[in-house]
Amino acid sequence: MIDEDGCIPTEESLGPLYSWFQGDDTSDNLACSSSPNAFCFFCHFVPGNSGGADADLRAHCRTLIDQKKEVHTIVSSVARIYDRDIRPMVKVVSNGVEIKAPQWSKRKIALHLITSGEFEGLFDQLQSKIFQTMILRLQEKVVRSDGSISDGPRRALLSTMREYNTFKQQWLSEGPPSKRTKR
Ligand SMILES: [Zn+2]
Repeated sequence: MIDEDGCIPTEESLGPLYSWFQGDDTSDNLACSSSPNAFCFFCHFVPGNSGGADADLRAHCRTLIDQKKEVHTIVSSVARIYDRDIRPMVKVVSNGVEIKAPQWSKRKIALHLITSGEFEGLFDQLQSKIFQTMILRLQEKVVRSDGSISDGPRRALLSTMREYNTFKQQWLSEGPPSKRTKR
């Protein structure tokens, strides 16, 4: 809702989208590193310190991203390879206790792929999917039962299509957002 002055009223309970520092508590952030209690193979083993397993798996992710596979397809593939080939050999120490073959949940895999910044190409593709989904959802609710077109939803649909086309044009002319060089 927009008020008489053309402003969107704010609610006092609103918080930041991303907390850049809250002491040790960043649990509200939608980021892999903000939930350290759940194991993440990629966060635990920085590139090169797992005897090659992480490098192979990271390369596999990049290949699937280059092939424009969807997030859930990549997550399922990573989970399958981790469980089958890597998990039996992994040992981590948490609070002084050694944990053998820790579980790496699909949710944590997805969080790492999307939010870590390590695979920005996937985030670019996700933005495109969000645009496409928004357009498809918007267009489903435009026509009234008598066949006439409702103006608000029509404008929302056209506006989103325009923004998506601008996004795509920029992608074509300048490359994906994560690969653009600063001007
Ligand atoms: Zn992670």
